Amino acid sequence: ETLSDRLSGVFTTLRGKGRLSPADIDATAREIRIALLEADVALPVVRTFIAAVKQRANGAEISKALNPAQQVIKIVNEELVAILGGETRRLRFAKTGPTVIMLAGLQGAGKTTLAGKLALWLKGQGHTPLLVACDLQRPNAVTQLKVVGEQAGATVFAPEPGNGVGDPVAVARAGIDFALEKHHDVVVVDTAGRLGVDAELMAQAAAIRDAVDPDETLFVLDAMIGQDAVATAEAFRDGVGFTGVVLTKLDGDARGGAALSVRELTGQPIMFASTGEKLADFDVFHPDRMASRILGMGDMLTLIEQAEQHLEVEEAEEMAAKLAANEFTLEDFLGQMQMIRKMGPIGGLLGMLPGAGQMKDALAQVDDRDIDRTAAIIQSMTPEERRNPAILNASRRKRIANGSGSTVTQVNALVERFGEARKMMSSMAGRFGFPGSRPSNR
Ligand code: GDP
Repeated sequence: ETLSDRLSGVFTTLRGKGRLSPADIDATAREIRIALLEADVALPVVRTFIAAVKQRANGAEISKALNPAQQVIKIVNEELVAILGGETRRLRFAKTGPTVIMLAGLQGAGKTTLAGKLALWLKGQGHTPLLVACDLQRPNAVTQLKVVGEQAGATVFAPEPGNGVGDPVAVARAGIDFALEKHHDVVVVDTAGRLGVDAELMAQAAAIRDAVDPDETLFVLDAMIGQDAVATAEAFRDGVGFTGVVLTKLDGDARGGAALSVRELTGQPIMFASTGEKLADFDVFHPDRMASRILGMGDMLTLIEQAEQHLEVEEAEEMAAKLAANEFTLEDFLGQMQMIRKMGPIGGLLGMLPGAGQMKDALAQVDDRDIDRTAAIIQSMTPEERRNPAILNASRRKRIANGSGSTVTQVNALVERFGEARKMMSSMAGRFGFPGSRPSNR
């Protein structure tokens, strides 16, 4: 089970609750806690997270627009964004001279691949990156860097082959000189990693750091390594220091733990995410997008946001009650249409509901102009006609058609459909109980 599945299970149990009791909140918090721990999120991070969610959920952030489940989703989402770093952190470029980006991390984390990805991405932003091969430990690393450099169309600075083990610090220095001479505005320095953290590795990385004085040191972290992520990140923070994190292999079955732990525990932002072996599988890391990916309900969050701005639960309940009591008038209908229209195109709104993917064809048929035309017809009626469509005789219908720029047939169709819909709604409400309907006195 993924973190998303577990979390949406938690939210499903909240659905249909009118109000959250402290016991509900405790139970929900417990479930979220288990979900996070199973996803390998570090314990201290889980504790901070749960405390924040509980406090806010108990803090009676009463919303007139959201039901309790939606409120909890909203709180969890906002706390996820916060724990992932809040704002997107952009690369800092040097004011003068080339910007130096040093990559550090364990062997196999994806540093060399990342160098190629960064080069391609930087070129897309109009930069002229140079890749410098300072991983002289792994036999193939230099060749591999040349390959990705070529794929990205970037120059690679590497020591001549056959020169023995070589001195990575000297190569790094020479790389910077080369960049200055050839006017490369960004230098990406690839360094060696080990399978595990060791003192020699740290010392070498620190020596390269001192030689090139990087503007950014990026710690490259394999998102699949689970609980080990934290110890590794802390070792690099203390041994080399870094200004940002790149998460790799987010395409694998990573459970999200590394992403959620690393920022909170190291204090440094996640800046990029790598999601595949191809150079293009790479992007700037956006905490909000990652959070909604973890929640597995990106569109639901957008809907919640828009509903918060435009809808009121009380009003919706009043309308439902009117429907149930067969008291819903064309005037109410007009009000509902106008409220929904404020939220944007109808097809877009429906498309955000869970399961909308299967109704793509039907959604493509939704035309907002139909709704606007319907609204225009109702607007051409007198208040009395809206409340009591029975009085709509032929001459009134003709007047309404003229006033709204439609035909009598269209007016007839609206009145007829409205009558049928109203009948259907009230009989459904009678049989099943309409959500929000008050017990009627029938
Ligand atoms: P380095 O030792 O840190 O330089 O790691 P490499 O760049 O050689 O990457 C190690 C392996 O991970 C290679 O087989 C890469 O193709 C693979 N790799 C790197 N990044 C990703 C990623 O984002 N997703 C996947 N699936 N594989 C990746």
